[in-house]
Amino acid sequence: MSVPTAAATPLPVLGRDVTVPLVTGGEVAYAALDYAASAPALQRVWDDVAAYAPYYGSVHRGAGYLSQLSTDLFENSRRTVAEFLGCRDGDQVVFTRSTTDSLNLLAGALPAGCRVFVFETEHHASLLPWRDADVTCLDAPRTPAQAVETLERALAAREPYGPALVCVTGASNVTGELWPVRELAAAAHAHGARIVLDAAQLAPHHPVSVTDLDADWVAFSGHKLYAPFGAGVLAGRADWLREAEPYLAGGGASRSVSRRADGGVDVQWHDSAARHEAGSPNAIGAYAIASACKALTEAGFDTLVAREEYLIGKVREGLAEVPEVRVLSLFGDDAPRVGVLSFVVDGWNSSHFAAALSAEYGIGVRDGLFCAHPLVRTLLGSDPETQGECGAPQAAPGEKSLNAIRVSFGAGT
Ligand code: PLP
Repeated sequence: MSVPTAAATPLPVLGRDVTVPLVTGGEVAYAALDYAASAPALQRVWDDVAAYAPYYGSVHRGAGYLSQLSTDLFENSRRTVAEFLGCRDGDQVVFTRSTTDSLNLLAGALPAGCRVFVFETEHHASLLPWRDADVTCLDAPRTPAQAVETLERALAAREPYGPALVCVTGASNVTGELWPVRELAAAAHAHGARIVLDAAQLAPHHPVSVTDLDADWVAFSGHKLYAPFGAGVLAGRADWLREAEPYLAGGGASRSVSRRADGGVDVQWHDSAARHEAGSPNAIGAYAIASACKALTEAGFDTLVAREEYLIGKVREGLAEVPEVRVLSLFGDDAPRVGVLSFVVDGWNSSHFAAALSAEYGIGVRDGLFCAHPLVRTLLGSDPETQGECGAPQAAPGEKSLNAIRVSFGAGT
């Protein structure tokens, strides 16, 4: 069996020329096809961050000129992100460390007695933060319409209830498939629930507008959106965030602190996003995210989506030439997807296959269960008791694979 090869393909680049992929005429160039884990930060973003250096000063903490400039850059970054996400008047944009951090923040802000509805297909970042809530975990749907029906049925079955939240991913980190976010939001709202969109995989590939999608919150990570590691976003409705205890307690989140006569401490917390941003903020991370948002907007999502669809087509064509390959999909082979695609190769342990792709062909992919164990096991039809994320035993030809291989890329580089 041979690995499919692709001709070197120059991509439309945001600020630089790159040739991706891969193996051309027997020559090997290293290609990191693991954008779903972390997409390489754009040169423009690195340049913008470097240009920030002369203005570097404390944020929200200084009277000096540089401190004021730095504060302005931080707050302007918040406005840029709000615009990128189509935020409504009154929405808050909170800078966090990542999508995982954003969803944990929201989990800590749920009103008392809140019910949470989440599909078993979610990334662990969206599946696990709701531990303290009353969680209903929904079966993996096999069509987008079934996803909406499943949610509607679950919401209806548990009525009446007080506050409720649906958490759903916009694009799967395993199959790349697009979820019917707008329809799920409509279903949630029809039953009085709110919805948070995990846009970690969607935002780098498609426009995400909380207004257009009618999502109450959206979360994403800078490092998957062509910015460096370390910063993320939770954006959306202010009310639950304003009423919640601060995510972290400390300076910056507090408006006024006083010592009581009885020796205790009284605190008044900010009502703004600062309530959940205690401590000196990651201003450079926020600035880098804003820079990436601008770069993607200027490149135009129409162009990026068209380019990515071309690339997805090339990958699919290549894989289709290998009879041992089975591409994983919940919604069917032709379902719309972003540049994320997982597959198994009959007779191969996926970890060995991925290692060989790297060592012999210079192609970096990911293997395993991709922090979405229930989904991958459903797709593989495998038994949760028999495997861990890594080191799964080798599947003999004709046997079920126990983990998968993922290639992921984007047109944004
Ligand atoms: N949600 C999805 C769909 C993801 O793919 C990921 C990361 O792979 C996350 C959430 C978590 O992102 P982070 O690790 O940046 O918190």
